[in-house]
Amino acid sequence: MKKCNSCSKQFPEIIMKTMIHIIDRKAYIENICPSCQSILHNNPNYYYLADENKPKQNKPS
Ligand SMILES: [Zn+2]
Repeated sequence: MKKCNSCSKQFPEIIMKTMIHIIDRKAYIENICPSCQSILHNNPNYYYLADENKPKQNKPS
């Protein structure tokens, strides 16, 4: 179990997402639960730590 840094509730680690929280131009790694993700998704101070480091795959869709 991991604690959500936003709502402070405990959740299984597998459903947690790592998000970047920008505070005073510094980046903090936070664990965010799914319900908080849907809220923080619209918050410009939060960014998903995702996909940017992965090579882009140009598969035909
Ligand atoms: Zn939460």
